[in-house]
Amino acid sequence: MSKFWSPVVHTLAPYTPGEQPKIEGLIKLNTNENPYPPSPLAVAAMQAELGSDGDRLKLYPDPTGHVLREAIADHFGIDSDRVFVGNSSDEVLAHTFIGLLKHERPLAFPDITYSFYPVYCRLYGIEHVCVPLDGQFAIRVDDFIERAPGAVIFPNPNAPTGRLLPLAEIARLASALPDSPVVIDEAYVDFGGESAVALIADHPNVLVTQTLSKSRSLAGLRVGFAIGQPALIEGLTRVKDSFNSYPLDRLALAGATAAMQDRAWFDATRHRVIASRDRLTADMRALGFEILPSAANFVFARHPDHDAATLASALRERRILVRHFRLPRIEQFLRITVGTDPQCAALVDALRALV
Ligand SMILES: *Cc1c(COP(=O)(O)O)cnc(C)c1O
Repeated sequence: MSKFWSPVVHTLAPYTPGEQPKIEGLIKLNTNENPYPPSPLAVAAMQAELGSDGDRLKLYPDPTGHVLREAIADHFGIDSDRVFVGNSSDEVLAHTFIGLLKHERPLAFPDITYSFYPVYCRLYGIEHVCVPLDGQFAIRVDDFIERAPGAVIFPNPNAPTGRLLPLAEIARLASALPDSPVVIDEAYVDFGGESAVALIADHPNVLVTQTLSKSRSLAGLRVGFAIGQPALIEGLTRVKDSFNSYPLDRLALAGATAAMQDRAWFDATRHRVIASRDRLTADMRALGFEILPSAANFVFARHPDHDAATLASALRERRILVRHFRLPRIEQFLRITVGTDPQCAALVDALRALV
């Protein structure tokens, strides 16, 4: 507390990111990072941009991120005027909350979802309602439609459940609420989902956000983007240019562009993660865990006979980090990031000793 704070700062409830420990040799399965390195072409592009003397860094980067937006547009087969880029998808989401989701009627999102959403609502003074997931932790589109919200946001696959909502259901939601922006946060879609980018052409109210942090192994670079019809993109650009004209630095623009262009690396690494997830799911089920069907690079699991917090701390003693949320409905679940096969095997060995 400080008398120097603006009044709003006293009311904030900031997001708590997963732990980034300094300890060597930990198996880190707590923040949904990719276990594989980024595309070598992305690394080479950043080295080339840096050059031998870093001379290019004396100049500001392109404020519109044009080359990266072209690469993203090519990846999806759309026009680049439908693409917005930012310094992480968290930043893109922040601009979306203030630019597209603050309306007369409250914003709706699931009761169990990405815990950054209520944080942005506090920061920007956005009223919201939480719509409960069903008993199997699935999103029920009709429950959202019934509330006639001013706007809707949810991740697909949802976090931290990993559950996927079929594209046809998203289309039904967007059609039923034609005057409300519907934002689909696709941080994990590359691990088994179908992107709602396919709905953009027919639905002027749909905005899709994605990140290079998970499926492109670039959490440390901070690059995210949004896709929607030009009117939505223009709204985000107006917010961006009222906040920071140059959100992406030269190295990030170069690395992210090459990463988007390297489809072979992207496909090879994400398919390895998907195969490991399916093995991990089978191995954990054999130990008695209940696991929600996951389309993400993590599994959401509970054991009927073992307390989740106790399991998480016992794993920590064995130098394996997983995420446990002390929240209603999910306090008996662990969210476990899919690592390499040897990391998953070490986790299963540890769990076998514990349950
Ligand atoms: C990881 C994540 C993000 C944030 O991604 P960054 O680009 O690293 O900020 C956004 N939404 C969800 C649901 C996530 O899990």
